[in-house]
Amino acid sequence: MCQNCNYQDLLERAGLEATRNRLHVLEVIGNNHYPLTAADVYKTVGRSHPINRVTVYRILDLLVQCRIVERLSTGGRASHFGLAPNDYHQPHPHFYCTHCGQMDCLSPESLDITSENLEKTFSGEIGRIEIRVDGICRTCLKRNAS
Ligand SMILES: [Zn+2]
Ligand SMILES: [Zn+2]
Ligand SMILES: [Zn+2]
Repeated sequence: MCQNCNYQDLLERAGLEATRNRLHVLEVIGNNHYPLTAADVYKTVGRSHPINRVTVYRILDLLVQCRIVERLSTGGRASHFGLAPNDYHQPHPHFYCTHCGQMDCLSPESLDITSENLEKTFSGEIGRIEIRVDGICRTCLKRNAS
C-alpha cells in the first residue's frame, strides 16, 4: 500500500481526467507490492467495481503511454504492469519466476540501473531502462524441494 502517491494527481499531471475507472485501475496497480498481469488487474478491479475487460486493457495502454504505469516484459507474450518510477518510487529491477510466472520488485539498491553511468559511454538518448532478472522464486524452490 503506497502512502505517498496521489493517484488523482498522477493522472492530472499527465493531462488525463481522473475518471473513476482510471483511478480504480491505477489504485490496484499502485497498492500492490509486485507487478500484476492485465488479467490480474481486471480480476481485482472487478471484485469491487464491475468493469469491462476491454476498458481495463485500454486504460492500461493509456497509463503506459502516459508513463504513469510501466509495462514489464516477461520475455514471452505476457507482460506485467507496475507503477512507473515517479517522485516516490526509484527505478528498480524486477525478478521474474520462469516457473510460476510471478514478478517481483527488487530493491533499487540491488542493481544500479540509473542512467548516469551509461550516459558517460553512450551518446544516444535514453528513454527508459528495463532490467529483468529471470530465475526460480523462493516459493517454487521450496515446493520443489518437498
Ligand atoms: Zn507510491
Ligand atoms: Zn515461482
Ligand atoms: Zn516494481
